[in-house]
Amino acid sequence: MKANSAFKIAVMPGDGIGNEVTQPCLDILDAAAARAGGFALAYETLPAGAACYRDTGSALPAATMAAARKADAILLAAMGLPHIRYPDGTEIAPQLDLRVELGLYAGVRPARMVLGTPPVLADARAATIDFVLIRESTEGLFALRGKGTNVGDVEARDTMVITRATSERLFDFAFRLGRARKRLGRPGKVTCVDKANVLQSFAFFRRIFDERAARHPDIDAGHAYVDATALAMVRRPWDLDVLVTENMFGDILSDLAAGLVGGMGMAPSADIGDEHAVFQPCHGTAPDIAGQGKANPTAMFLSGAMMLEWLAERHEHRGCAMAAALIRTAVDEAFASGRLVPAEMGGPAGTHAVLGAVMAALNQIDPGRVAAG
Ligand code: ATP
Repeated sequence: MKANSAFKIAVMPGDGIGNEVTQPCLDILDAAAARAGGFALAYETLPAGAACYRDTGSALPAATMAAARKADAILLAAMGLPHIRYPDGTEIAPQLDLRVELGLYAGVRPARMVLGTPPVLADARAATIDFVLIRESTEGLFALRGKGTNVGDVEARDTMVITRATSERLFDFAFRLGRARKRLGRPGKVTCVDKANVLQSFAFFRRIFDERAARHPDIDAGHAYVDATALAMVRRPWDLDVLVTENMFGDILSDLAAGLVGGMGMAPSADIGDEHAVFQPCHGTAPDIAGQGKANPTAMFLSGAMMLEWLAERHEHRGCAMAAALIRTAVDEAFASGRLVPAEMGGPAGTHAVLGAVMAALNQIDPGRVAAG
């Protein structure tokens, strides 16, 4: 389908370090595409975010939204700045609006240890950490975001929303991912993370999970409470495989997952719906290090690789699958010696040093050596 035309990629650099990791990522994507047979990626850079809100009055202009809808995929860096807020005091986060607008219900947050990075846990098994957290991204406790109530400054309420339609799609997505991981030699076990012992909404969430699990009998399914999961993530994260959970729980656990594999700069993500998908690092705009050249762009590179993999699957495009595998292998090889230590892990390597190392590795890999798919 895409043999002779370029993939249209909507690029939203956003704010803070988002601007600093975007161009390095495009450089890596272009190099990988060139090495994987020379397919083309046509980027359209679109304004959105806190600075855009300050300058135009809109955090996600209609023209940006329209272009994003038309693109083959959306690559987003990070948005929001603490000193630019909506009148109600909340931060500008159009990435959350995009998830709802485009129906991106499955927030995929892989946590995989890149060998050679300083270990966070003092256990040799930490080197094998490789699990995926799927965060429902359109409802849950974020459903009424910005529309909660505050009654007379005496009582405030937000509402948790769990719908059958979204939960069914979410769980089916999780079981498909479990099956794909099983094919690659992982257990492929899918665990529903909830608080079904306390809240009606989570009892419903779990019941729908069990119904969908029955339709995927080839995949192991289990349950865990969110508090026990937080403990397990620190005690034995190497045993985890596919975790699927509600929006707020996923928000919290995905930062914990990123911490386990070295920090926010190592954690990629994808927000996937039935028609569209947004790829962005798990991190925010990191105002504390913005403008200092210290941002680790690895999460952005790995998010770019997830984008290529998604395009490969949708368009049955071998070049995209190959380019994704090249980027992942280049990241692994750049860090493998243990000498590349990003600033966020206490080392000297800033954005350009990490880009240089990953680019050098990418240019040395024999594409024939990298298994695509
Ligand atoms: P948000 O609420 O938008 O997710 P946040 O305030 O929770 O953002 P981040 O912006 O992700 O958090 O930053 C959390 C911490 O991680 C900060 O100390 C920041 O400097 C660090 N950090 C985040 N991303 C990176 C990165 N790519 N490289 C280096 N350090 C990072």
